[in-house]
Amino acid sequence: MAKPAAKVRPEYRNYIGGEWIVPQSGNYIENRNPADTRELIGSFPASNSSDVDRAVQVAAEAFQRWRKVPAPRRAEILFKAGEILIQRKEEFARDMTREMGKVLAEARGDVQEAIDMTYFIAGEGRRLHGFTTKAELPNKYAMCTREPIGVCALITPWNFPMAIPSWKIVPALVCGNAVVIKPAEDTPLSTYNLVSALTDAGIPPGVLNIVAGRGEEVGKALVEHPKVRLVSFTGSTEVGRIVGQSCAATDKICSLEMGGKNAIMIMEDADLDLALEGVLWGGFGTTGQRCTAASRVIVHRKVAKKFTSMLTDRAKRLRLGPGLNEKTDVGPVINQDAVEKTLEYIEIGRREDKAKMNCGGHRVEKGDLKYGYFIEPAVFSEVEPQMRIAQEEIFGPVVSVIDCRDLDHAIEIVNGVKYGLSASIYTRDTNRAFRAMEEVQTGIFYVNASTIGAEVHLPFGGTKSTGNGHREGGTQVLDIFSEWKAVYVDYSGKLQRAQID
Ligand code: ADP
Repeated sequence: MAKPAAKVRPEYRNYIGGEWIVPQSGNYIENRNPADTRELIGSFPASNSSDVDRAVQVAAEAFQRWRKVPAPRRAEILFKAGEILIQRKEEFARDMTREMGKVLAEARGDVQEAIDMTYFIAGEGRRLHGFTTKAELPNKYAMCTREPIGVCALITPWNFPMAIPSWKIVPALVCGNAVVIKPAEDTPLSTYNLVSALTDAGIPPGVLNIVAGRGEEVGKALVEHPKVRLVSFTGSTEVGRIVGQSCAATDKICSLEMGGKNAIMIMEDADLDLALEGVLWGGFGTTGQRCTAASRVIVHRKVAKKFTSMLTDRAKRLRLGPGLNEKTDVGPVINQDAVEKTLEYIEIGRREDKAKMNCGGHRVEKGDLKYGYFIEPAVFSEVEPQMRIAQEEIFGPVVSVIDCRDLDHAIEIVNGVKYGLSASIYTRDTNRAFRAMEEVQTGIFYVNASTIGAEVHLPFGGTKSTGNGHREGGTQVLDIFSEWKAVYVDYSGKLQRAQID
């Protein structure tokens, strides 16, 4: 059985063909704690295209064996992996907080999501339902089955470093595919932890491989490799488009999960205290670094002033600090680039005509926090829907309050961005809630809850530039990781011509 990449080693390795292998490049990327960059978590491979080629070749061979393992047997291994994840949950959550920065409660939630996904999808091993239907000719049978695809390249971001890899790895495996995963440069350890749980549970050598490294090198080589049949990507819209174009050039199946600019609508009849909790959680949870983060709050003008003052008051009191400290409300952002990008947007917001800066927006330079990437949660109000801070994905602790006249106006603002991931409404009026549900152009919608909080057994994904039409989660994810085969059995004993006889 494969040993997890030993933490006593100063340098982690790639996992290829059931072994931990030194990258052929000989280069490494340091993984440091974003709450205190003096802490080195480990060095992870900066692999090259030879490492990718080796992993894909091994996966292509392993696929031929794995696809023949009956799906219920494959699922038994996944159930076991779920049990291992439960046993190691606390250790994995702490590792995640150290490498990614999110507060411990959220890191535990991230590991829990991987557990939930593993159990849910393992159940599919005894379903993977196809269907039968009636043929148009007599004495002829018609049915459809799901078939595995081949080698799947999975490219993941840093904000949900275990949950997102699990959304992809586990369904890919239950469907009978082989996997090569490239984790994000900033958070490889959580993917290593997930993969070690799966291999300890008995996933055979070669079926699941990790090649760590940079997107432009490892990611690109994976997407271009001729033996990769499917690419599943989560990350920015800019990179997703590059990946999509590259897949089109080589006829690969491609699933893209990209940006968001999500909104909470607050009507004048809403429970404002409840809405406030939703905005704080949606806007500043994970330090605003979720693709479903509530970065826009659209408030009925009758209550906008009152709500802005409630929000500002609470945002000022959020406690910044390392995620391992149980008293911390908001952890650091992920890296120096994220600091610069967030501060740049705050500057753009300040310069934009009418927007009013209510609080936050500075990098914290005092005490030990100066060793981390901490930014005070920022609240802008009187923001116009077309301003850049209300249109572009910031991915940091910045919330824009936009006034609206009524529900129709609020819906127009929600839909007036290029993304379509998540939206929510706070109202006591059922009629308005249902109308909003119908009119909002997003893949996820909440009533009297924040824009975050997806559950694994429902489809996850968005419209417009958020994705390319696929859904992860739910049984819908099986449509990404399996191909339909239509089967006709003619037992008439004679030639029967469809559409002619
Ligand atoms: P984020 O900053 O949210 O992680 P990115 O889109 O930059 O979003 O990165 C998402 C994932 O895509 C990461 O694993 C990254 O290494 C990878 N990536 C970046 N550039 C490329 C590329 N050109 N081809 C394939 N993968 C890439």
